[in-house]
Amino acid sequence: MTELLHAVEKLTRPWSDVLSPDETGLDRYLPVDYPPLLDMLDEACRANTGERSHGSASDPASRSLLDLEAHALRERIDGTVRAWVGQLSKGRAERDLKAAVVQLAGILQAHKAAGTITDADYGRVSGLFPRWCAQVWTLWDPPVRKELRGACPNPDCEQTTVTARDGSVSSALVAGYVRNTGQVQAKCSACGWEWVTVAELRLLGEWLGAEQDTEFLNAVGL
Ligand SMILES: [Zn+2]
Repeated sequence: MTELLHAVEKLTRPWSDVLSPDETGLDRYLPVDYPPLLDMLDEACRANTGERSHGSASDPASRSLLDLEAHALRERIDGTVRAWVGQLSKGRAERDLKAAVVQLAGILQAHKAAGTITDADYGRVSGLFPRWCAQVWTLWDPPVRKELRGACPNPDCEQTTVTARDGSVSSALVAGYVRNTGQVQAKCSACGWEWVTVAELRLLGEWLGAEQDTEFLNAVGL
């Protein structure tokens, strides 16, 4: 896959990565699933309107700075994508940013295949995609998030899923993983119970048992 296509995938589709022991501080490789980077960016933009699930910056000052950065980055990507779609095609950019990113990559490749774009312009535009990946990722480094399967052990909760305001359904139990420190914590989005210490996380892992995503729990030492 070309660097361009790889970047488009990461921006617009769920993707996964394997963190090395150097990155995690653990003694093994850690597979992690991520949502599309543009979804992560949208979440960063919404951060000050409600609870954020990744939460890299907990103090208010750096948090609002992060929000500003996220908004500015989103506007920059959106404006650039639309400008290039307009310039390189007769059509209009798709409304949805992810769709517009895919659209721009398609237009770019069609021009390349037809020989209707200079190498310099092609290099310039195709180089934008990996740069956007890096810029979005920088906002999020380090925390990542993994949905866990199974019901919450809180007897007053026992939820397996939560439904967001936009109607999307996700697992109630979510594990967060801090890339640089190897720190793991889990939380129930339905009732707010948290598992922070290794002992607590191990208990949660035992509770979830065979249903659990053992690959992830093993990887983080549970
Ligand atoms: Zn719960």
